[in-house]
Amino acid sequence: MDLIYAEATPPGRGGVSIVRISGDGARRIAESLAGPLARPRHAYLRDIRDADNILDRALVMWFEEGHSFTGEELAEIHLHGAPVIVRRLGQMLTNQGLRLAEAGEFTRRAFLNGRMDLSEVEGLGDLLAAETESQRRLAMRMSSGELARKADHWRSLLIRAGALVESSVDFADEDVPDDVPDEVFDLLSELRRDLHEQISGYAAAERIRNGFEVAVIGPPNAGKSSLINRIARREVALVSDVAGTTRDIIELRLDIRGLAVTLLDTAGLRTSEDIVESLGIERARTRAVEADLRLHLSPEGKKDDTLWQDGDILVATKSDLFNSVEGLPVSSLTSEGLDQLIDRIFDALSARTANAALVSHQRQLSALSEAYEALEGAEGLPPELLAETIRRTASSLDRLLGRIGAEDYLDVIFTSFCIGK
Ligand code: GDP
Repeated sequence: MDLIYAEATPPGRGGVSIVRISGDGARRIAESLAGPLARPRHAYLRDIRDADNILDRALVMWFEEGHSFTGEELAEIHLHGAPVIVRRLGQMLTNQGLRLAEAGEFTRRAFLNGRMDLSEVEGLGDLLAAETESQRRLAMRMSSGELARKADHWRSLLIRAGALVESSVDFADEDVPDDVPDEVFDLLSELRRDLHEQISGYAAAERIRNGFEVAVIGPPNAGKSSLINRIARREVALVSDVAGTTRDIIELRLDIRGLAVTLLDTAGLRTSEDIVESLGIERARTRAVEADLRLHLSPEGKKDDTLWQDGDILVATKSDLFNSVEGLPVSSLTSEGLDQLIDRIFDALSARTANAALVSHQRQLSALSEAYEALEGAEGLPPELLAETIRRTASSLDRLLGRIGAEDYLDVIFTSFCIGK
């Protein structure tokens, strides 16, 4: 592999900027800048030489092939965090024939060199993108190889089952049907149980990863915008007032006690004669129906019967002016009821994460579903067909980890990474 380099820290000013160099000869390049670096994985404080000048005083280290993030020989230069220093070092490296890495290229090399499987790569991508505590926790488990370890366990069940099937085939006597030992079916049903658990917990895990959607609905002047603004100021708003894909819905990303939540302001929910507006309202209604939860707002604490679903929350707005018997009294003016409302939103959503699986990417779900379906009807199959079923299941698990069929996904996955990752 050719030598690549990139800034691993975000561009801009900071205490330290780290430039990573990966490929055969990374050590030699680092030594050309900093002098001899005898020991790998050892930090040296050195002047970085640029012809007769000293560019910067930096920490320099290198890692041997097989003992680095990418699996290649790799060097790191920890410079002072000024863009002008990083830029100059970049020029010096380019002059030495190195190439600026493409987006995600370090991680891609780590994958190609077997340092990470595809689920760990996806986990790392999620970890780097994580905004809330629950996203971080899920991503951490995935990136540290928890799914890979599960898949290895599943493979070992398949290998044992496969071996038992092989040994049950009596080649000597072709007239007598072969008996498959019961243990084979025990192993396969254990696997099916595990796969089912992951598949059924996908929806919740996906929500943890991408965030829950909570629609705020109610008639005009119910106090929707005021409440959303109030909540946004109280909770950590991740991105404020991001306009949705349509003008009809405003989205606000929130961190509610570690859960990523998108509040949908369906301000346009009312009947209208205007065709264009009606279309917008229709879209807003669809989003509200598909959301994970709906807050029904009105001063009277009335629900919208056409949109109500079990578990929705009824909010009696403007409680400083009105005294409703129905719904949770909330005032955006005095903040009365706001904490209770946040509690109830959190409780409703976190209850749904109880059975969350580890699997949270569509690609992972497809591979697991394929494995699960391959096992369907395995019971009662003759040994030859059973052996084939076991092979098919194993290859779906290989697909899960990207051991086969990864090509289709690599570009999609790595373009979401930035340069330097
Ligand atoms: P939306 O059409 O449902 O988004 O309603 P708005 O949030 O725009 O509120 C409509 C009107 O009610 C505005 O004049 C607000 O100032 C007022 N309002 C909203 N919430 C409260 C509240 O809690 N107390 C009082 N007194 N007025 C409120």
